[in-house]
Amino acid sequence: MDGQSFGASFRSLGDALPLSVVCKDLAGRRNYVNQHYLDLHGVKYDDVIGKTDYDLFPLVTADQFMADDRKVINTGQLLNDVEELPGIDGVSRHIERIKAPLKNDAGDITGVLLLFRDVTDGVTTLRALAEVDAFYSSLVESLPLAVFRKDRDLRFTFGNRMFCEMLGRPSEEIMGKTDFDLFPRALATKYRRDDLHIMETGEIFEDDEEVVKDDGTRVYIQVLKSPVHDANGKTIGIQGMFWDVTARRAAEEALREAKEAADAASKAKSDFLANMSHEIRTPMNAIIGMTELLLDTRLDASQRELLTIIQSSGDALLTVINDILDFSKIEAGKFELTRLPFDFRESLGDTMRMLAPRTDEKGIELAFRVDQDVPQRLTGDPVRFRQVVINLVGNAIKFTEVGEVVVSVACKHRGATHVDLKVSVRDTGIGIPADRLEAIFEEFQQVDNSSTRSYSGTGLGLAICSRLVSLMGGNLTVESQIGKGSVFHAGATFEIAEDANQDDIHFDVITDARVLLVDDNETNLRILNEMLGNWGMRPVAVNNAQLALDSLRQAELSNNPFDLLVSDFNMPQMDGDQLAAAIRQEERFESLPIIQLTSSGQVVASEERKRLGIAAQLLKPVKQSELFDEIITVLNLPQSKKLRVESNVETVARVRPLQILLAEDNLANQKLAVGLLSKQGHKITVAPNGQAAVDAWESKSFDLILMDVQMPVMDGMEATQTIREREAIRGTHITIIAMTAHAMTGDRERCLDAGMDEYLCKPIRGKVIASKLGELFGDTDSQASSSSTIDVPTSALPLIDWNDASELVEGDNDLLQVLLEAALEEVPELLTLISDSLKSGDLETASRAAHTIKGSLLTISAQRAAEVASTLETALKEKQLSATKPMLSELQDQFQRLKTEIEKRSW
Ligand code: ADP
Repeated sequence: MDGQSFGASFRSLGDALPLSVVCKDLAGRRNYVNQHYLDLHGVKYDDVIGKTDYDLFPLVTADQFMADDRKVINTGQLLNDVEELPGIDGVSRHIERIKAPLKNDAGDITGVLLLFRDVTDGVTTLRALAEVDAFYSSLVESLPLAVFRKDRDLRFTFGNRMFCEMLGRPSEEIMGKTDFDLFPRALATKYRRDDLHIMETGEIFEDDEEVVKDDGTRVYIQVLKSPVHDANGKTIGIQGMFWDVTARRAAEEALREAKEAADAASKAKSDFLANMSHEIRTPMNAIIGMTELLLDTRLDASQRELLTIIQSSGDALLTVINDILDFSKIEAGKFELTRLPFDFRESLGDTMRMLAPRTDEKGIELAFRVDQDVPQRLTGDPVRFRQVVINLVGNAIKFTEVGEVVVSVACKHRGATHVDLKVSVRDTGIGIPADRLEAIFEEFQQVDNSSTRSYSGTGLGLAICSRLVSLMGGNLTVESQIGKGSVFHAGATFEIAEDANQDDIHFDVITDARVLLVDDNETNLRILNEMLGNWGMRPVAVNNAQLALDSLRQAELSNNPFDLLVSDFNMPQMDGDQLAAAIRQEERFESLPIIQLTSSGQVVASEERKRLGIAAQLLKPVKQSELFDEIITVLNLPQSKKLRVESNVETVARVRPLQILLAEDNLANQKLAVGLLSKQGHKITVAPNGQAAVDAWESKSFDLILMDVQMPVMDGMEATQTIREREAIRGTHITIIAMTAHAMTGDRERCLDAGMDEYLCKPIRGKVIASKLGELFGDTDSQASSSSTIDVPTSALPLIDWNDASELVEGDNDLLQVLLEAALEEVPELLTLISDSLKSGDLETASRAAHTIKGSLLTISAQRAAEVASTLETALKEKQLSATKPMLSELQDQFQRLKTEIEKRSW
């Protein structure tokens, strides 16, 4: 067959083919090419017919083609391959070709038939596919996971190396198999059920499975399976991967066990703390309380001194116990802050007052200032805030020998409901080395941890403070320079209290009076200057008395006199009194009002004050509200402007004699409570355990039960519950106050849950009990005045309540007589002691003496005089010196009347 012999129908068939067709004779000459060939090469039929490869291709290519042809002719075999050849455009192309022998009717080979087409695109795709395939298989093989695939019949179609390893079989033994061929029946059934569910729902399946290996070891695997879809989204099988999580499970288990152990240890720790607190506080209760009672008896000076040391050591020990307890509570996460509205400035002022004697003693200055925009009333935990301030200021005082300790409160941010405050406590003390600045916030860390250190302390204060401050939403930080001093900054966020209209109690602009300020301490001057400036006054500040005199004279000469002098007492060269005396020597200054600022030891007797024309003495550091009110008084401004600030003088309402049932097993505590309560005029019946208390309650009527919590036979909780159950039937209710040495969070709640009404924490102090009883049983109308000015009590009370007195001794008139005689002998001595101590500035002794007088008078029901003694005691404790003098005369007066009353009574 040659080109001519092709029929027309074959020719048209050839032309329609989507590939090139060439026929060659035995000599390699083309005798047929189809249209596709002509189009591909862009040639005409006649141009190629009769031509060999040598006519059309370079020699090397032609040789190759001819060799291929010969091979086909010689062997009669088909040749099918893909060749890479340069295309017409020079770019390499992939050509698939088939060469077959052409035969005549006799079967002799007459030439070669060549079919070829360009398959470049297909080859590229295949290559890309192969690369993707290589990428995925290297990825899948290097993953630390077992990966597999199953077809629709759930036969394995793929498993990576790790999968085969985990199954312990080669791939050939896995492919085409089902789970039933490879796993125990139960497991295979589960796998099949899961797989069918995945294929049905299309959901991804995740599970932790336990697998018991052939050798009996248990492993845990995490399995993730998902459906496999084809290009049309049809589910064609499932794929999955799993990995060994045995180690992770073991770690989790170990962690859980460790946490349980830690929780148990923490519980044991807090139980231990609660018990330890109880065990320590119970005897401490007796030590401190008994000392308090002893101090109220007649003692000589050395006995008193020894007892005072016992008392202050007891207090110090209690502080350490409380610190340790606080710290442990914070550490155990059992510490909660309370939320109470309080007057921020007053509270801070009171705290500073409390600390002032320590700075007075050391001769250093203590001052504080509060930014004008700090709201007056805040809501937060005033007790814990005070604890932080006391600690920081206490440290500052401890580590400062000369100079000053200054507390300033800045308002960092004031929002609609909250304020962020920054309290800075600056001292001019010994400073802290840079390398210890962080350590001191750690528990039990001190700059000097050596056994020879010269400052006492536990190293817990700052650790507690920094945790408290962070509970208040802030941070405690420090800056310090050795030899220059330190400044501690405590941030704290408070709510702005909703309980008062803040604007009502803002300090008003009251007057533009010209005020001369004199103080040798620059910080104090600055603070006073700022305060008065804020109130609209025109202050002028000078730092010594001579300058003050000069300024007064100068102002007078230039017809611009001062309206008021606010003067410090303690100044070098010329002190406050000398300045006042010098001023009064000049007639033109006769009526210049003087307010003097003093520290506790420098109080001037009132006659002396009157002589010098000192209108008022205020204790340093000065509370804004006090100075404000004093200025109003001194300058005769409208009294309505006064802030009427409540002082923190503890006001104890008068309480009638109560019948008290005391349930307490500890003998020392029994005696103490009986001692304290009977001194307050109450009658006590003691029950040594809960059962005895319930019995006593059944047999006699009481106003109140003081219930210890831990007692033998029946504890306080059970006794309370028993009483409450019986009361429920009778419709009665007796007040029960829990007394416990536990001080852990939740104790109070437990007591209240058991049906108690109130809660007192041991050690019980006379004052605390009195105030609690005052709250519960007090005659509210007779509450002592709580304003800064102390009222001398009303004469509405009887001089002596004879009925009551007789009832107290249960009708034993002889005993009453002994008590009366003792009072008549003791009180005058104590009155003398008070006036002597006042002269020598020993307010502590004076206040103790007033306290003892109060106790003696109460035992004989001399209520009116006892009240005056009590008010005097408070004034002395509060160092309200202006009030003490008239009160002492009042007490002397009352006592004289009482004496007459007693003496005139015929027995
Ligand atoms: P403590 O005062 O009981 O030792 P703190 O935790 O309150 O415990 O203080 C830790 C230590 O930090 C102190 O012992 C002292 O070395 C140092 N420190 C604290 N405040 C000051 C300060 N204002 N000036 C110098 N050192 C201070």
